[in-house]
Formats: sequence, structure tokens, C-alpha cells
Amino acid sequence: MEEKPYFCPNCRANRIKFNLIASTSLQMLKNAYSGQIVEQEEPTLIEESEPMIQCRVCNYSGNEMRFIKQAEREPRFENATTSMD
Ligand SMILES: [Zn+2]
Repeated sequence: MEEKPYFCPNCRANRIKFNLIASTSLQMLKNAYSGQIVEQEEPTLIEESEPMIQCRVCNYSGNEMRFIKQAEREPRFENATTSMD
């Protein structure tokens, strides 16, 4: 994941609230006869080169790059006092 501002390209109203959509790997042992899970480890995150990001305002999801590009096109300036986006 990149440490860059995001801006939702769909609703264009959100720069703050996002979900990271990621895959996790969870190691487990099953009982070969009953199929029961007999042991399981904590899930670990599978790192992806370009993670999926979901906007928590409109639920749109897309590649991280789309959110970064939108923020670059329409940057938010530090001294902006208008909206709380
Ligand atoms: Zn959105």
C-alpha cells in the first residue's frame, strides 16, 4: 500500500474513509475423517502489489491506483476551509 492521499473517483466526496480489500491466509489442520478443523493459526495478510480499495461512502471498489490518481487530479490543499471532505 502506498502512503499517498486517496480520493474516491466515483462519488468524489470521500478522502478519508476506506476499506482495504485483501486476501488472508489461514493455516489449519483438519481431521481427515470428520472434516473438523482441529487446529488453526492466526490469519496472515497476503501482500498484493496493487491492493483493492473500497470507498466507505459509496461502496465503490477499485485498484488503489485509481484512488491515488483521482487525488492527484484533484488535490486537497492544506489551507482549504470549505468542506470537510
Ligand atoms: Zn465513493
